[in-house]
Amino acid sequence: MSRETSEKGSILIVDDNPTNLGVLSDYFSDSGWEILVAQDGEAAIETVEYAHPDIVLLDIIMPVVDGFETCRHLKANPSTKDIPVIFMSALSETVDKVRGFQLGAVDYISKPVQQEEVLARVNTHLSIRNLTRRLQEQNIRLQQEIRNRQQAEEQLLGLQAELYQALAQEKELNELKSRIISTISHEYRTPLTIISSSAEILEAYRHKLDESKQLKHLERIKIAANHLTDLVNDVLFLSRVEFEKLEFQPEFIDLVSFFRELVEELQVGVNEAHQLIFTSSGECRQFYGDTKLLRQIFTNLFSNAFKYSPNGGKVSIQLICETHQVILQVGDQGIGIPPEDQGKLFDSFNRGKNVGTIAGTGLGLSIVKKCVELHNGKILVESVVGTGTTFTVSLPLREPINLPIGTHQQQNYD
Ligand code: ATP
Ligand code: MG
Repeated sequence: MSRETSEKGSILIVDDNPTNLGVLSDYFSDSGWEILVAQDGEAAIETVEYAHPDIVLLDIIMPVVDGFETCRHLKANPSTKDIPVIFMSALSETVDKVRGFQLGAVDYISKPVQQEEVLARVNTHLSIRNLTRRLQEQNIRLQQEIRNRQQAEEQLLGLQAELYQALAQEKELNELKSRIISTISHEYRTPLTIISSSAEILEAYRHKLDESKQLKHLERIKIAANHLTDLVNDVLFLSRVEFEKLEFQPEFIDLVSFFRELVEELQVGVNEAHQLIFTSSGECRQFYGDTKLLRQIFTNLFSNAFKYSPNGGKVSIQLICETHQVILQVGDQGIGIPPEDQGKLFDSFNRGKNVGTIAGTGLGLSIVKKCVELHNGKILVESVVGTGTTFTVSLPLREPINLPIGTHQQQNYD
């Protein structure tokens, strides 16, 4: 076995006949090849495994391990299976040639061989092998490129989604901004106009007005100022909730009497076209909740029920005390809420499309929702346009932590 370095490539010639081996070795060596030789199958396998020649010329009939067996061995080994093998044999039956190809050889040359033909075939197979290698490398590069591109596309899609989200948020914010501006300019301007016009009249004509007229203007100023105060209070209340500065201050409450008193208090301003019905079932003497927040919930639902049933009708308030929860229902027979608006009403400054000239800022229900959430409760709306609306608030009964039941002491809870 010998080895010389060459630019052309290396070839392993395997033949048990020293004359054949010598002739081919000289010829390939003269043609500039690096030559490796072996005289039997075992030596051939060993040489291929350690020297990795570019191509193998393999005799078939050899003692112990023949050429077929040698080829099977080389093709079964992952590190040598891609090295092209050309059989050279005196076996010239088709069945032998087919067997050679089935074992993975790239060619089959019948002996006696012509050196020029062997060289031409070797060159051809090496070119094919080189091209195959280049194709495989290119394939790997292409696959990597595809993977990179897919990653880039995924990143792009992610960025696109973020962008759409940001745009949607921006759009929502802009809509909110314009709703706030239009609501505030409308809701604040009306009472301000009343105040300034009544004040101007009093200033310029008070000596010409009798006392009752003067009082009427003062009353108008008072109502408008109160309305403005309510608006400012609503906005302040919501911002306190938003910034989590609103503390939940629970105490034990007898809910039935609490709501009965509230109904009596609010009933004073109720228009005669309405019929007010308050019913309660069960007992909630030890409800642990925040009276300020419960008041907000009730007054807003109560005032909405009247405000949005301008033609009158029944307003029913039902308090149901169950074992684990309290349910408060406020129902009316008013204008109803269009289905497409129902989902948005609990967000600030949102109003139904059917409100017409009924005044409002769209803050009440967002306040109600926050107060219900501070009680860990839920609020639902059922409404049919032109028929009426029912709001259902359910509040779970909760036990105070570290506080003996029956103690009427205020404490921050949550
Ligand atoms: P305010 O801040 O003065 O309460 P508002 O009544 O417009 O103003 P919300 O109480 O938040 O605001 O109500 C939001 C919207 O929900 C209302 O504008 C109205 O379209 C609709 N709505 C609320 N309650 C009723 C009801 N009982 N019947 C019909 N529509 C209602
Ligand atoms: Mg309201």
